[in-house]
Amino acid sequence: MDSKALEAIKVKLQEQERQLKERLEWFTTQDQQNPADYHSRFPDYGSKEDENAAEVSAYSDRLSLEHTVESDLRDVKTALANITKGTYGICRYCKKPIEEKRLLIRPTSSSCVQCKKQLKGEAA
Ligand SMILES: [Zn+2]
Repeated sequence: MDSKALEAIKVKLQEQERQLKERLEWFTTQDQQNPADYHSRFPDYGSKEDENAAEVSAYSDRLSLEHTVESDLRDVKTALANITKGTYGICRYCKKPIEEKRLLIRPTSSSCVQCKKQLKGEAA
């Protein structure tokens, strides 16, 4: 991959990392011991019964969102680490370079189109 494309991807990933962290800050607290781990805060709407019920429901929404954003953030960090190590853009299944176009659209891709299709059970 040429260094200009790689640089563009790196900028994209850093921007994604910033946005994901910002999203987590809205409703989670970062773990003191393990900064990569975030904990959803329990919302406080009031102490009436319906307010308590709304809190429980909002908290469960937060937990699933936390899970999604944390996993996205992990993918972004892995991609950035691979850029540093010089192993970015290699398919994790067939070890061949991933299509540059695919990476520019989805910088956290870790497999090539061919392997992805096979995984999904589609005809390659
Ligand atoms: Zn592959």
